Amino acid sequence: TGKYYDAIIIGAGASGLYCALHAGQRGLRVLVLDHANKAGKKILMSGGGRCNFTNYFVAPEHFISANSHFCKSALSRYPSWEFIAMVERHQVAYHEREHGQLFCDDSAQDILTMLLDECQAAGVEIRLNTQVDTVSAQEPDATDGTRFAISTTPKASKKAAVSEPAPTVYHSRTLVVATGGLSIPTMGASGLGYQLAEQFGHSIEPCTASLVPFTFTDQIGELIRSLSGVSIPVVASNARASFRLPLLFTHRGLSGPSMLQLSNYWHTGETIDINLFPNTDISALLIKHKQKHPKQLIRTVLAEHASDKLPKKLLSALQTHLWHEQRDTDLANIKDEQLHQLGEILNGWTLKPSGTEGYRTAEVTRGGVTTEAVSSKTMESKQQQGLYFIGEVLDMTGWLGGYNFQWAWASGYACAQAL
Ligand code: FAD
Repeated sequence: TGKYYDAIIIGAGASGLYCALHAGQRGLRVLVLDHANKAGKKILMSGGGRCNFTNYFVAPEHFISANSHFCKSALSRYPSWEFIAMVERHQVAYHEREHGQLFCDDSAQDILTMLLDECQAAGVEIRLNTQVDTVSAQEPDATDGTRFAISTTPKASKKAAVSEPAPTVYHSRTLVVATGGLSIPTMGASGLGYQLAEQFGHSIEPCTASLVPFTFTDQIGELIRSLSGVSIPVVASNARASFRLPLLFTHRGLSGPSMLQLSNYWHTGETIDINLFPNTDISALLIKHKQKHPKQLIRTVLAEHASDKLPKKLLSALQTHLWHEQRDTDLANIKDEQLHQLGEILNGWTLKPSGTEGYRTAEVTRGGVTTEAVSSKTMESKQQQGLYFIGEVLDMTGWLGGYNFQWAWASGYACAQAL
């Protein structure tokens, strides 16, 4: 038995639901398929449960891709205030946090409820617990114009029935791949989107876990773990980017907004630099104090005279690690050169992460379907007519701060207008 749709969307996440509701509003018959038992699981866990759903300041610089221009068209045609207007229509209470980030006052559930209500009002059908087995494309059918056949089976529940579930084949004029990235596999992430892209001749930019904490081994790892729970403002940078944001020491490594942001620009084997005293030139401070107060100790100067105040625990750990031998030596007896070197380290501590926490905790996947063979206006494949890619499955990664959802909304909207 066949069922016919104008659009089938694989993935009932942020981009899939958003595309579906706009396509439905245009009067199209839309079906959304998802293998998970619930729509929008990542929306629910986003922003610490409060969903940082967009940002007041959205610009192409906030996105990483092999083609940095790809996001421009969709973002400019779907500014964040359009989404905010929907949020306000649904009377979802929200607030702004630093750097223009918008969060729900109550719960991320408000955003998911809004999307599902809009889908329902637009007549969108959503089928969960549905495994997509095969997708095939033919020349459009002479009578109904359908091009795609999507063969599915119901996902067996844990108390599995003994008999094999019967496959259902759906037919559609267009097919939208909105399967997201690989992060948090327990929330339903899978590589299906990349497989479908390859099936239709697309190439994939290498995928990496991103917006993710760094891990460390050896002595540095131990030092970091001993400081678990400490948070300080830093400037974290590498050759590609620099962020003035908090750093958090954890029992696994370095986290906090500065590290997550930098992870978007980090490649395995590279180092990162952390300025622990972003408001103080430590070399200059130590040398000045050596002249004026030669009896002082390094730790006293750092604790009492630097503009940046580090927690005692951190200062004493740094002392053990960086100037243990001079810990009780007054400045007068330490060479200028040594003070200078120490200053350089404290203003630019170079660390080499052994890796990241990986997809288990990453917020996003960097890389994905190469944008070259996708239209930036409509998200349609240049390889297969009627096939579209939206959201995170594409090689487009946003900064922390609501940018990944803004990309999901904007790419979903652009696609919905073209279906
Ligand atoms: P998703 O929302 O991930 O949706 C993909 C859907 O496809 C899922 O429902 C999945 O079940 C389905 N699917 C996958 N494989 C298959 C398959 N084989 N068959 C059928 N269905 C399939 N971004 C922000 O902007 N702000 C935040 O506050 C924020 N917080 C986050 C917190 C966490 C912990 C995480 C993990 C991510 C966060 N993100 C945040 C990122 C954001 O959630 C994603 O970028 C966004 O959800 C991507 O939308 P999408 O539609 O492309 O994919």
